[in-house]
Amino acid sequence: MKSGKEGCGCVCDKPAPKFPEQVTGMYILARSLKMMGVENVYGLVGIPITEAAYIIQGEGIRFVGFRHEQQAGMAAATDGYVSGKPGVFMTVSSLGFMNGLTATANATVNCYPVVQISGSSVREPIDLEQGTYEGLDQLNVAKPVVKAAYRVLKAEDIPTGVVRAFRAAASGRPGGVYLDITTPALGEIVDRDKAEALLKDVPVDIAPAMLPAPEAVERAAKLLAGARKPAFLLGKGAAYARVEDLVKELVDKTGIPYYPMSMAKGLLPDNGPLSALSVRSTIMEQSDVVVLIGARLNWLLSRGHGKWNPDGQFVQLDIDPQEIDCNRHIAAPVVGDLRSSLRALIDKLPAKEGLSMDPAWVPGLQKESAEKNAKFAERLAPQTVPMNHWSALSAAKKVLEANPDVILVNEGANTLDDCRDSIDMFLPRHRIDCATWAIMGMSMGSAVGAAVATGKSVCAIVGDSAFGFSGMDFSTICRFRLPVTVCVFNNGGIYNGIGEPLDKTSDPAPTTLDVNARYDKLGEAFGARTYYVTTPAEYEAALKEAIESKAPALIDVQLAADAGKESGHIGYLNPAPLIDIKV
Ligand code: ADP
Ligand code: MG
Repeated sequence: MKSGKEGCGCVCDKPAPKFPEQVTGMYILARSLKMMGVENVYGLVGIPITEAAYIIQGEGIRFVGFRHEQQAGMAAATDGYVSGKPGVFMTVSSLGFMNGLTATANATVNCYPVVQISGSSVREPIDLEQGTYEGLDQLNVAKPVVKAAYRVLKAEDIPTGVVRAFRAAASGRPGGVYLDITTPALGEIVDRDKAEALLKDVPVDIAPAMLPAPEAVERAAKLLAGARKPAFLLGKGAAYARVEDLVKELVDKTGIPYYPMSMAKGLLPDNGPLSALSVRSTIMEQSDVVVLIGARLNWLLSRGHGKWNPDGQFVQLDIDPQEIDCNRHIAAPVVGDLRSSLRALIDKLPAKEGLSMDPAWVPGLQKESAEKNAKFAERLAPQTVPMNHWSALSAAKKVLEANPDVILVNEGANTLDDCRDSIDMFLPRHRIDCATWAIMGMSMGSAVGAAVATGKSVCAIVGDSAFGFSGMDFSTICRFRLPVTVCVFNNGGIYNGIGEPLDKTSDPAPTTLDVNARYDKLGEAFGARTYYVTTPAEYEAALKEAIESKAPALIDVQLAADAGKESGHIGYLNPAPLIDIKV
């Protein structure tokens, strides 16, 4: 590291530390992150965190610089989800902080462990509202949308702030944590000896086991053993908790079918004999006992009402006691970490012969699955040109199912829904999507985070509208030479490209983008491999080649403008229509 500067020379006449005897808060921050075992930090620099990022890089931590803070946050959140350790990202004050906060809020909703560290301006003029550079009370802005928020005002408190943030992000139900470090704290000069003394205690086990109560496990085992038509419902909490070994043991021991939520696909093979992926409605309507394993009974599951068997009962394995009963009464809650709870439940359950499962239940589901799968295959079979989502996905399906180790990132409306239904997953934590909030604008960040955290190849299948939110960060994929292939499904609009304005205007309709846009040319600007494909055969060849290259690639997948319908599979969530719009 270079020696301390002579002073900044501006009107503030800031003293500079005497290096190496003295360091600053930024150095203490970098060393604290190193102490926590952080390998990657995502972010976007500027006042007051630029030098901190350099020092972090100097400590041997990878610093992945982005073009938009929201994407840095999505990357950190995905890193946290796939690695099991809190992801970290850094933002500048005011707008940079706010841009990043959307990702931290999204992480909180999705139970991804992430720590957003933001520089903030000097406190006094903020609190007196005197008008200062990027002045914003960031701590209080963050609080309502994050799991926890802390502010550090002195350099000596930085290690404590970091440890508290990491514990809050990873322990119990994981979530997004905001750590505010003021400019004076970042720049505060501290004697090196004192700084090193602050850093000597390495925290142990930031997410300790939480054992379930034995009577809760017993109640759950009894209910399940007595069930006639039981089912397991797997959520991304189980994927995050890395309990695929125990879920397999549970399924093998009981022979009970499993249904994976979107990001739990691949926890067990989607096409296994006990996979109930294609018979969700039957599970909802007919199961008498459903075991929720790291899944919430939220809007994605009709909050436990609607189609659900009104007489059915639930077992819920979750780490968060407040989740229980939030929508529907849970007959047998098991509150604890999934590894402990599953171990205890498996040990308490009788062998298959001791279960009361109706012998016709599983064969019935298997028969129905086979029929549904055959019907679905008919949808994917026609090699329609110009392509629609199905004919395009038939090509992606062939390549991705032959490469199950490639992580699939997926967002859009029809592009999301149809891709989820089409492509089977075989490995845990290999599908990352818009998740619980069903948001748009996560794919470039999540693709970077998945590639950086795992070293694996990533394929992002995204709608043209979805791509627009984060497209500039395709350049981040290119700068870091990541093995990421981005496929833009271009049907020229939000939902599709056939919207017609109601009034006499030459402006495009609110849903219309540009079906003739050549997204592949964007890839050229940043030195990526690029492809423009118009048929399933071309797409299949391009995707195969792009993945094999292990280099950044952008494929413009040209669809017909009328492919796709408004809001994909969730059109029912729109307010009651007044007018008939053509989308
Ligand atoms: P999905 O969308 O797949 O249904 P959710 O995000 O809705 O998944 O639910 C995940 C659930 O998993 C949350 O309720 C969360 O509290 C829980 N969870 C996360 N990590 C653990 C863990 N280690 N042990 C137990 N439950 C966990
Ligand atoms: Mg579109």
